[in-house]
Amino acid sequence: MPKYTFKCEDVGMDCGFEIKNAGTEDELLEMLKIHAKSSHGVTSIPPDLLNKIKQNIKKVGKYYFSCASVGMNCGFEIMGAQSEQELLDELAVHAKMSHGMSSIPQDTLNKIKQNIKVM
Ligand SMILES: [Zn+2]
Ligand SMILES: [Zn+2]
Repeated sequence: MPKYTFKCEDVGMDCGFEIKNAGTEDELLEMLKIHAKSSHGVTSIPPDLLNKIKQNIKKVGKYYFSCASVGMNCGFEIMGAQSEQELLDELAVHAKMSHGMSSIPQDTLNKIKQNIKVM
């Protein structure tokens, strides 16, 4: 299971508040609401700030991808990458060397991102 981490400073608040390793995004957001009210006087988080917060929540887990999930039958899998970026960098090498793709087209990349699993 991924863990969810958030720091107020990531959305420009200089208060030192952080939540580490919450079990779910909802759990993290519930705690953040309490903090927003108590420390920032925000009784309800406006949607634009909520979006910004969600974009800055970091998922910490092991990243997994298999070519089979995007219809490639080459048997290739990556397990245990530390970040989505690491996984995509490694996948770029595989795409180039095994599939002859010098760069991954945007639509394929979107499909890949949808099929990356975090465990
Ligand atoms: Zn704060
Ligand atoms: Zn492949």
